[in-house]
Amino acid sequence: MLTVNVDLAAHAYPIHIGNHLLDRTELFAPHLMGSTVALITNATIEPLYAARLRSTLAPLGKRLIQIVLPDGEAHKHWETLNFIFTKLLTERADRKTTLIALGGGVVGDITGFAAACYMRGVPFIQVPTTLLAQVDSSVGGKTGINHPLGKNMLGAFHQPQAVIADTAVLRTLPARELAAGLAEIIKAGAIADAVFFDWIETHIDALNRGDETATIEAVRRSCEIKAQVVAADEREQGRRALLNFGHTFGHAIEVGLGYGRWLHGEAVGCGMVMAAALSQQLGLIDSATRTRLKRLIAAAHLPTQAPILGSDRYLDLMRVDKKTEAEQINCILLKRLGEAFVMRVPDHTLRAVLTA
Ligand code: NAD
Ligand code: ZN
Repeated sequence: MLTVNVDLAAHAYPIHIGNHLLDRTELFAPHLMGSTVALITNATIEPLYAARLRSTLAPLGKRLIQIVLPDGEAHKHWETLNFIFTKLLTERADRKTTLIALGGGVVGDITGFAAACYMRGVPFIQVPTTLLAQVDSSVGGKTGINHPLGKNMLGAFHQPQAVIADTAVLRTLPARELAAGLAEIIKAGAIADAVFFDWIETHIDALNRGDETATIEAVRRSCEIKAQVVAADEREQGRRALLNFGHTFGHAIEVGLGYGRWLHGEAVGCGMVMAAALSQQLGLIDSATRTRLKRLIAAAHLPTQAPILGSDRYLDLMRVDKKTEAEQINCILLKRLGEAFVMRVPDHTLRAVLTA
């Protein structure tokens, strides 16, 4: 098992990464304060892993409330959140009740937000079960739900007590979901660590087939990078924006095609290829660097060819991204592999890339 420590101004917590951590009572014990634990998961993950986690917690003698949500991004909304609150209140969960999120980013985001709100804030533990959740969404404290008028528009910053990432559970993850997680791993290397980027290139086949050692190392380094960036900028005012590399284009693809057509990680993978093209267009990187990134995205079984939406539509969608400021498109660009920065890019430069 490897541990990455997240050191924030007001709170520090461990991310434990390794195989079969779901069975390790001692990893959960220090983080369960009160007498009650609420295990929150979804209908797909419950039959796979909930019984195991329940028996891991059993020796601790806590009262256990189990809440099973419907699966899917479509349920990351107010009604599901309220369903959690109703269940917690009818079961008389108190202010010391610890919520445990067992699932992917959807379960993690909604459980974290429920923990931020319930009785003005209760502790929670992330047990991420997708690669994307292990390397990205479970780390950093962003929690939330969608509104019909926008994705992730309601939420709070609420840090978990611990993240327990059991890499063995990834064996049941569909291949497409695994590739989507690899996109965020490649992103971490591209924005912050050239040596890690090289390492991903040499281990991409091992990562594709879910090799244990390679996966643990990739999750560790990605979490470390995210933890460092978040520690430097907890509330997303500066450096944290770099984590959005590939995301402005990716967001346009997700919305332009209609949510659900491409997975978030697929759109981000393609978005990184587009951001690299833009970086080359601006004379920041050479074509060999751009090709390296594109090859790695392709090797991770992610799309590299941008869907045709038309440059006007792309620009429109990129502008309404909540991460951009009014009338200006802030793009995350590469200076080289391992170093990214934010720059405002004029429309005509973007058009050249979008019509290429
Ligand atoms: P997800 O939670 O929808 O999980 C993907 C699918 O895999 C689901 O059907 C799920 O039930 C299933 N699944 C999960 N674990 C499994 C396992 N071990 N075996 C078999 N099936 C399994 O999707 P995701 O990609 O994990 O997360 C996406 C969500 O994360 C989005 O809502 C996004 O907004 C959010 N997100 C949040 C942050 C953040 O900082 N909070 C960052 C990135 C993404
Ligand atoms: Zn992302």
